[in-house]
Amino acid sequence: MKNLIRKEIRALSAYYVPDSRGMVKLDAMENPYGWPAALKNEWLDIIGEVEVNRYPDPAAADLIKCLQETESIPEDQSVMLGNGSDELIQILALAMAKSGASILAPEPGFVMYSMIAKFSGMDYHPVALKPDFSLDMPAMLEAIKLHQPAIIFLAYPNNPSGNLWDRAEIEVVLDKTGGLVIIDEAYAPFASDTFMPDLGKHPNLLVMRTLSKFGLAGLRLGYLCGRSELLDELNKIRLPYNINSLTQKTAEFCLQHKSVFDQQARAIKQERSFMMAQLKEMDNLEVYPSEANFILFRTPKGKAEYIFEALKARGILIKCLSSAGGLLHDCLRVTVGTVEENAIFIKALKTIACSE
Ligand code: PMP
Repeated sequence: MKNLIRKEIRALSAYYVPDSRGMVKLDAMENPYGWPAALKNEWLDIIGEVEVNRYPDPAAADLIKCLQETESIPEDQSVMLGNGSDELIQILALAMAKSGASILAPEPGFVMYSMIAKFSGMDYHPVALKPDFSLDMPAMLEAIKLHQPAIIFLAYPNNPSGNLWDRAEIEVVLDKTGGLVIIDEAYAPFASDTFMPDLGKHPNLLVMRTLSKFGLAGLRLGYLCGRSELLDELNKIRLPYNINSLTQKTAEFCLQHKSVFDQQARAIKQERSFMMAQLKEMDNLEVYPSEANFILFRTPKGKAEYIFEALKARGILIKCLSSAGGLLHDCLRVTVGTVEENAIFIKALKTIACSE
């Protein structure tokens, strides 16, 4: 029976999420903070009123209006919502997967670009980043010319490296490709630049964001901004009611109280600086700059797995990227947590590295 499943699907491995129960969880770029009690109570009252016996608003009109107002989306641009930005990547791929169509993305990058390309039947063309994780422009332009990709994904900042690429280089990519360029701003709350104001300037530019890193990973809400001419087409394959009523109401409520989440993002950025300084003090680590809520660092040769496991044995879960190979060899990625969690991580890391 299994043979009935397409062979490229059988060749895939499912997206792996490790068991993190009881751990100091610094592996998944979540916001570590809860909400003030008064805010939570106000939210519970609102949620209590939702009629879950009814279907949600299929257009999520109130939520889209709220996003347009709070997220500085240019007035002449449209918005499409997804069940996380993962679903938006999937919708883009499904809409553009015709014979020979491809997705291009710099690598190392976000794994779902290649996974979704594969299961939607598109070709996938990775273009290696330079050793400092900047764009390799000659290689990018060559690959664009050769493959004429339908979609280019540029995560800005990039996951897992955490850096922003050169804006002028991205503008060259926008000019040189005949395909769509999706600037994936999943980490926008922590980054110093955005392409949102540029939306009107390039006909092939779309900006994708998520509320996951803002502090609502459990809600599953991503949004794609761009010209209505494109989004109206993509909207045709968005399943009706993909954004449930509880998500719609909760996201609206949180955006109306954005200052609480902005304050959390500021705290995360401050802690990022603290962790960065602490990691840099350890001379055997190479630490990469970050505009996101995580930090990538390189361990001494062959030590990444050992350090990852030793942290895990102490109840601390981070992400080991070493097995991906290439530029990520010997690399670990840690998400910025609370002050206490970060101190626990740094103390354990110092102990492990010193016992070497
Ligand atoms: N884009 C990037 C660059 C990411 O790192 C992630 C999640 N780690 C996503 C998109 C997906 O986010 P979500 O589906 O939670 O909105």
